[in-house]
Amino acid sequence: MSPKTFQLNLLNLRPWLTLLAVIWLLASLGLGWLVKSLLIIFGLLLLAPAIAFVGFRWWLQRNLVADQCPVCRYEFTGLNNSQLQCPNCGEQLLVQNRHFQRFTPEGTIDVTAVEVPKQSLEDY
Ligand SMILES: [Zn+2]
Repeated sequence: MSPKTFQLNLLNLRPWLTLLAVIWLLASLGLGWLVKSLLIIFGLLLLAPAIAFVGFRWWLQRNLVADQCPVCRYEFTGLNNSQLQCPNCGEQLLVQNRHFQRFTPEGTIDVTAVEVPKQSLEDY
């Protein structure tokens, strides 16, 4: 271990030593409850990212939908209640009720693109 890294390690340890000293001091002053609540807060601070990570994974599992593209049968995953594009055929898709649906505007979406000739409407 070179002297430089040793110094760095000491620098990293210093806040912890200070924390320990403060805890010991508070405990010796009969402020155990303060130490306990501080430890709880500290533990929560440490746990928060873990909980957030687990929560995020849970959310992802709930919202991740694996289904087939209704146009080309290509299977891929998307987020529930979102819009996405099929990576295979480029079709605009909507994820609803854990299934992919073709993105068909129902009046409210993209009003400018509604000018469709009557012929193609009858073809449907
Ligand atoms: Zn497709």
